[in-house]
Amino acid sequence: MNNIANKVVLITGASSGIGEATAKHLAENGAHVVLGARRTERLDALVEEIAASGGSSRGRSLDVTDRQDMQAFADFAASEFGQVDVIVNNAGVMPLSPLASLKVDEWDRMIDVNIRGVLHGIAAVLPGMEARGSGQIINIASIGGHAVTPTASVYCATKFAVRAISDGLRQETDKIRVTVISPGVVESELADSISDEKGRNEMKEFRRISIQPEAIAHAISYAIAQPPEVDVSEMIVRPTASPF
Ligand code: NDP
Repeated sequence: MNNIANKVVLITGASSGIGEATAKHLAENGAHVVLGARRTERLDALVEEIAASGGSSRGRSLDVTDRQDMQAFADFAASEFGQVDVIVNNAGVMPLSPLASLKVDEWDRMIDVNIRGVLHGIAAVLPGMEARGSGQIINIASIGGHAVTPTASVYCATKFAVRAISDGLRQETDKIRVTVISPGVVESELADSISDEKGRNEMKEFRRISIQPEAIAHAISYAIAQPPEVDVSEMIVRPTASPF
């Protein structure tokens, strides 16, 4: 069973971590992957690496907070490969801090990237998928979308929102598969954006049990590989040793 081969899969936040691992894994399985992020030099290197292994990909600069840019990214994918079969709304940031630190700009950034970015991704592909009568939207939430912890209020709020949006979308359509995947702690660059010292130190300790991003890539690939009438709506993939 390989319902992945020849599918056109857009991946936001493909320049590192889960997005990068997913791009490689899906390309190995025959998908045409279209990679978006702001660090285009990383995307160029990834496109080269995928090509060297015989895979098919394109990279394009993308800021998910900019709705027009997201639409241009989806249009670019359609012009390169004919249509969009799947979008993985993966781009995210996690500058944790206690609310009392009043890092309001960081709250805004999490809302812009983690919520608006996902909505922009949905808006960019939904009309085409509805018109065609098929497609799949995969949103990356978090275990932080299932339970709240100190310093993570705003991050968790954004991930609760991703789950709410995903479930609402799923109920509104009978043609498009909607999948939300909630990773536990995964090795990546995500914690690098924490500017709060307490939050950074706590995360360093917590992240010792991290699993590899390939574990999430495999979950994404499982959801895509199912036959069209099977929608894997929600998965949590976390370290065996995770207390949360
Ligand atoms: P990384 O920091 O390694 O990757 C985040 C990606 O998001 C990067 O490719 C970055 O690319 C991209 N990104 C950030 N801002 C923007 C933007 N404005 N426009 C476009 N791309 C952007 O972390 P992960 O791989 O871990 O994170 C991927 C997803 O997984 C996130 O949604 C995160 O919340 C979620 N997650 C991760 C967990 C973990 O422990 N790692 C646990 C639970 C959920 P660039 O900077 O080049 O734009």
